[in-house]
Amino acid sequence: MGQTSKAYFTEEEWQTRCDLATAYNLASLFHWTDLIYTHISARIPGQENRFLINPFGLHFHEVTPENLLKINLEGEIFSKSDYGINPAGLVIHSAIHSARPDVGAIVHLHTVNGMAVAALQDGLLPISQHACHFYGKIAYHEYEGIAVHNDEKSRLVRNLGTKKVMILRNHGFLTAGLNIADAFTMMYTLEKAAQVQITSLSMGLPVVVPSEEVCEKVVKDTGLRGIKNAETEWQALKRLLPNKQEKKEVNTLQTRLKPATLAPLMKNLSLMQLQKVAINQQNIDTTQCASYLKGPPASSVPMA
Ligand SMILES: [Zn+2]
Repeated sequence: MGQTSKAYFTEEEWQTRCDLATAYNLASLFHWTDLIYTHISARIPGQENRFLINPFGLHFHEVTPENLLKINLEGEIFSKSDYGINPAGLVIHSAIHSARPDVGAIVHLHTVNGMAVAALQDGLLPISQHACHFYGKIAYHEYEGIAVHNDEKSRLVRNLGTKKVMILRNHGFLTAGLNIADAFTMMYTLEKAAQVQITSLSMGLPVVVPSEEVCEKVVKDTGLRGIKNAETEWQALKRLLPNKQEKKEVNTLQTRLKPATLAPLMKNLSLMQLQKVAINQQNIDTTQCASYLKGPPASSVPMA
């Protein structure tokens, strides 16, 4: 692959690549994966009708900013890669990106919770606060088989209309957001609502359904998850993933500082703690090293 560094891309494209790779890695962390299938795509700001999607063949945890594929609405690939794109992903994602310029990112998954609710005639029921977020806001699309035929595009677009959430019957969930943060956090809420529904119904006891008035009030109050909240949630979600740059630095410092007897303890020091050791160039002993790991914040531990 030629596109191996940040310098290869515009700033906007690099940022989109980073956020999109993060979305894939988080989806993997949450076990939202389905082998090498399903897709999360994002429009590249400033590049008309170009969007990024996963290479067909990689697991979500293998997706990086560099290996995402840049494609156009016709599926032409503008990235050097050993991988192609999944035709089903292209049909669904290009149809929506083409018809909805307001959509910056799309998440489509085959989670068990999503597919289970997508198999129900009544779809998502407003029986939890999470589900009430989507009251009256969900589009439904009938199952037509594997989505590899272009003629399905018009029906996908028509059924989605102006909505941001669609349940693909007998198939899975789809969210179409203003950006990656919006689409991903919507999916998080939707997925949890599905999980609650399945768990509640599995008890076989009568379920309380809030009134229409209350459900509508929830929608009004949440504004279908304002973008501001989505951004804050997204930043918090991003912190769940190990910072790869930080990990690299930790490895370097561990090697450099390493007295062999301390190796097992050093392994558990944070980057900040290792940096302090490096700055002071100390040969800390095992007692000091252990004290880093237990209690007091690193800043209050005296350096010898
Ligand atoms: Zn699918």
